[in-house]
Amino acid sequence: MRIVDRIADVRGEIAAAKSLRKSVGLVPTMGALHGGHMALVSRARAECDVVAVSIFVNPTQFGPHEDYDRYPRTFDRDCRMCSEKGVDLVFVPSVDEMYRKGFDCAVEVRGVIAESLEGECRPGHFRGVATVVLKLFNITAPDYAYFGLKDYQQLSVVRKMVEDLNVPVRVVPVETVREPDGLAMSSRNAYLNETERKAARVLSFALDAAVSMFSAGERNAQAIESEVKRVLESEPLAAVDYAVVRDAETLETIRKLERAAVVLLAVRIGKTRLIDNAVLQP
Ligand code: AMP
Repeated sequence: MRIVDRIADVRGEIAAAKSLRKSVGLVPTMGALHGGHMALVSRARAECDVVAVSIFVNPTQFGPHEDYDRYPRTFDRDCRMCSEKGVDLVFVPSVDEMYRKGFDCAVEVRGVIAESLEGECRPGHFRGVATVVLKLFNITAPDYAYFGLKDYQQLSVVRKMVEDLNVPVRVVPVETVREPDGLAMSSRNAYLNETERKAARVLSFALDAAVSMFSAGERNAQAIESEVKRVLESEPLAAVDYAVVRDAETLETIRKLERAAVVLLAVRIGKTRLIDNAVLQP
């Protein structure tokens, strides 16, 4: 496994692979790797000749009062995990390498997909995400790029950017990996103390409630939203940023669930903000 921190070196590695007609899969991450990231890597390993993982805590997607400085950084462990999974290339650029002096560009996805929900709670977040993801695509020229359904809206934003800007990459969604009690794996779970960790289960309880109602035939978005909120509010440590049912493709609000929908949650447990979702597929 090669570990490189320079864009020129990644390009060299990728060019060598492509000259042998090898397919390239990219898994973009911010490190502090866990089972969720590893599911993306496994999928890439199964589908591509060359698997590249990028590890970059991207400052431009964090708001001024967010957790950029204290975001967990576990580089040595991350590399061991990648090596064990058969990753070929780890790209771990510095902030200066990605944002050279004078850098002054941004990719902005507009509309409900990027401007609602996370876009509203975290202004500028998706501009940072879209910009860094397009840079990573341009640096690694992947045939396939793997993204978790855990960050549902992020996946939608990346897909929209790829479609609108004709980026020649196939975006592959990967199912959310959960802890045995249902909590979606996340690097931010490391912030939770024991009490908060228990309280955090409420997100998956709320999603389970939505799935049960839907399976029992409920098609009224408002009724499902109300029940989801009721479950979340039953947990004293939980503060809800949003809990909504939206169209799974456009993220527009809906009244009746006539096609695929998604329940999207953002909930603060103490100081830790967690997101999760469940797709409701008729
Ligand atoms: P992050 O390092 O949090 O930026 O995540 C990097 C990639 O891993 C993103 O595409 C995430 O959606 C994905 N990911 C994070 N957590 C999970 C999970 N629990 N299951 C599946 N994918 C995940």
